[in-house]
Parts: sequence; structure tokens; C-alpha cells
Amino acid sequence: MAHIGVVGGGIIGLCSAYYLQKAGHQVTLFDQDNIADGCSFGNAGMIVPSHIIPLTQPGIIAKGMRWMMKSTSPFYIKPQFNKELLRWGWLFYRHATPEHVERSVPVLRNLSLLSKMLYQDLATNGDLTFEWQERGLLMLYKTVSAEYEMAEEAEVANWAGIQAKILSGHQVQDMEPNVRVDVRGGVWYPGDAHLNPGQLMRSLVTYLQKNRVQILENHSVTGFNKTGSLISAIQTQHGTYQVDTVVVAAGAWSPTITRMLGSDLCIQGGKGYSFMLRNIDNNLRVPAILLEARATATPMGHDLRLAGTLEVADTDRTINMNRVRGIVQSIANYYPDIKVNMPTVETVWRGLRPCSPDGLPYIGKFTRFDNVILATGHGMIGLSLAPATGKLVSEIIDNQTTSLDISAFRPDRF
Ligand SMILES: Cc1cc2nc3c(=O)[nH]c(=O)nc-3n(C[C@H](O)[C@H](O)[C@H](O)COP(=O)(O)OP(=O)(O)OC[C@H]3O[C@@H](n4cnc5c(N)ncnc54)[C@H](O)[C@@H]3O)c2cc1C
Repeated sequence: MAHIGVVGGGIIGLCSAYYLQKAGHQVTLFDQDNIADGCSFGNAGMIVPSHIIPLTQPGIIAKGMRWMMKSTSPFYIKPQFNKELLRWGWLFYRHATPEHVERSVPVLRNLSLLSKMLYQDLATNGDLTFEWQERGLLMLYKTVSAEYEMAEEAEVANWAGIQAKILSGHQVQDMEPNVRVDVRGGVWYPGDAHLNPGQLMRSLVTYLQKNRVQILENHSVTGFNKTGSLISAIQTQHGTYQVDTVVVAAGAWSPTITRMLGSDLCIQGGKGYSFMLRNIDNNLRVPAILLEARATATPMGHDLRLAGTLEVADTDRTINMNRVRGIVQSIANYYPDIKVNMPTVETVWRGLRPCSPDGLPYIGKFTRFDNVILATGHGMIGLSLAPATGKLVSEIIDNQTTSLDISAFRPDRF
């Protein structure tokens, strides 16, 4: 049994702790804040094997430039002269190619399908509760250009073995008997699922604490004790903790941690927002992505979570209510009977997606030290990929053959 220190209490850190504890290790998990404040808590809750095309894809740069002109638009990069942002932008540009998409589709699919299988196990093995629902996902559109784009994506998905069905506006309406839907059509991905991410996080914390995992909130990691090629201890503002192995799962802050270890890691925070409509009379049945608005709607019991926007923002966590207004305004275009008032700033949640420049996560050994594992950079789909990532982390630490080939996720690939 080894003592593992996990840096970061988001969904990736918690899932890593879960599988490490199951493998018989002693685990201490550190978070700089309260666990309920990170990117994993208020996200849209979608589990999306449908998302096999990475964010870094042809055409995305031109589309992003158009979106940037509008203050309520779903995408924004704050113009600034910052070395890390320039490097990230350059690598993003270099990977927005058909060849990169072709290479990424099978590896993202395999990671996603492994994760979904693990979620199915977690939903039934009695350890956790998180409102698991397998009703698929609707990608809804109102314009011909989005229809064309979605038809292409559906073709890629079907080719890769992920079922996708193109629906007319009437067929979409049949899937939502209680709510009027005003769309040209949609693509239904029956293999997707959804859950309540806040409940999942709380349930993981309770399970881990019951099973002797030490969770240290408000413990910011500030440095490491190094002995040759090994880390021997983790330093925090409240003391130093001896460990045998370190897992870096610090989301958008991971580059700060790797700098303490003498290496750069290319990640930018992609800020997004969400808020809840509580106790609505007629809720959606199926979660949806509203294509032109790049907003999402996920039913969670009697509530409906609305989310969206991607502002490349490093680790700035301020809330820009103009972007939130963009989400509010878009909902009535797709669901004319769902009344959405502008939320107050106190009820808006924001999170920083840890975005790598090629749209693939970093999972694997850190080259500079023999006992450091990276598990970060999951961008838009970290909730979906978390159980698979946690399982892989535990397999790497135990020197087992990994459940799948992880060479595409090598942390030193740039
Ligand atoms: C609006 C929105 C909607 C989304 N919807 C979905 C979705 O539907 N499906 C999906 O799959 N994904 C979704 N995502 C993405 C998903 O939420 C992220 O990919 C995921 O939460 C990242 O998890 P993480 O554990 O890597 O990072 P985080 O959750 O950010 O956790 C990292 C943790 O590290 C801690 N930390 C940082 N520095 C230190 C330090 N020095 N010492 C100690 N601790 C430290 C932080 O406090 C933080 O808690 C969404 C994201 C957003 C913003």
C-alpha cells in the first residue's frame, strides 16, 4: 500500500481517489478551496460519448472570431499579451486540422465509452447516488448551416460506432411531449446520459471519507520536497505531508502546480456559467445542446440547469453578466414556453474548464519526476471522462497494463 497525495478535489481528483482507495492505497486529497466551488460542481451534467470530435477542429477559429464581436456571444478570448496564452493559441491553431480530428476520434471514443461503462457500474454498485439517467442527448438547431454541420458530425459518429439519428422538428417535438420546441430539427444520440454533478461530488466525498480517505479542503498546495527524481512530500500553507506518489488533478490551475515541479503545462481556463430554474411545472425529458447559441439545458429532477459560454480566461473567475444574458436570451428561441428571468449574480455559478490546446486530456506520468502522474486538461468533457481517468490513474500507479492505450494523452506531447 502506497500513500498517494491527490492535488485537486474536482471530479478528476475525486474519481482518482475513488479508484486508488478501491485498489487499497492510502489517499490524501488536497484542495485550495471548498470542493463545492470548483469546475465540477455546477456543470451541465451531461455524459457525452457523442462528443468524439475534439474542440480543436477545422473551421472553429473562423467561427470563434465571428462570435468574439458580440458581448452576449458564447465564445470570447480576452485580448492580452501573455506568453502562455500565445503558446496555447498557436498550438490550438496548429491542431485545428482534419488529420488531428481523424486521430482523435477513436481515442476520445474509447475513453468516453470506458467512462460511461464505469458510470453504469457506479450507478448500481451501491457506493454513490447521483440521479443517473440514460435518455440520450438532443443536439438542436434552427438554421440550415447548423443542420448541415450536425449531419456531418452524425455521419462521423455513426462511422465511429456511436449511434446518431437525424430528426425532423416534429420528431424532436414527439420526444418532448410536455414542452413546446421550436427547431428546424436535431440529432439524437441515444447512448448519452446525464446526472446531477453536485450530488455526485457530495456523494463521492461522503464515500471517500467513510473509507478513510483524508480530504483536506482549504489546503492550497504551495510546493514539494524533492529528492533526486522523486517527490517525497507535499507542502501546503498548513503543513507538509509525506507521500509516495503525487497525482496532479488541479484543473485550470495545473500549470501552477507543474511550474512548482519545474515544467510548463499548456492549459487555459475556459470559463462557463450555469444557473438553475427551480421547480418548473413542465420539465424537459431529454438534455439538449442548443447549437447556434452554444447553450445547454439539462433536466435535474424538477429543476432545469441552463449553461453555456466559453471565455478563454486563464484562471479569472469573475462573472460577466453579459454572457449570462446571452444564455437567458437564447432559451426562448428554442423553448418558447419556458420563461427564463435574468438570474442574480449570486445565483450564477461559474467554472473554469481546463482546456488543452488539442482538445485531448493529459493522462500519464510526468517526465521530470518518477512518482508524479498528471490527470487534467479534460476541457468541455471532464465530467464525462472522470471515472475512466481515475481508473487509468490507479492502473498507472500500480504498474498494470492500462484498460486502453493512453499514448495520445501523454503529458509531454508538446
Ligand atoms: C458551464 C460548464 C458546463 C459543463 N458541462 C459539462 C458537461 O455537461 N459534461 C462534461 O463532461 N463536462 C462538462 N463541463 C466540463 C467539466 O466541468 C470539467 O471538465 C471538469 O469539471 C474538470 O474537472 P477537474 O477536476 O479537472 O477540475 P476542477 O473541477 O476545476 O478541479 C480542480 C481543483 O483543483 C483545485 N486546486 C487548484 N490549485 C490548487 C492548489 N494549488 N492546491 C490545492 N488544490 C488546488 C481547485 O480548487 C479545484 O477544486 C462543463 C464545464 C462548464 C464550465
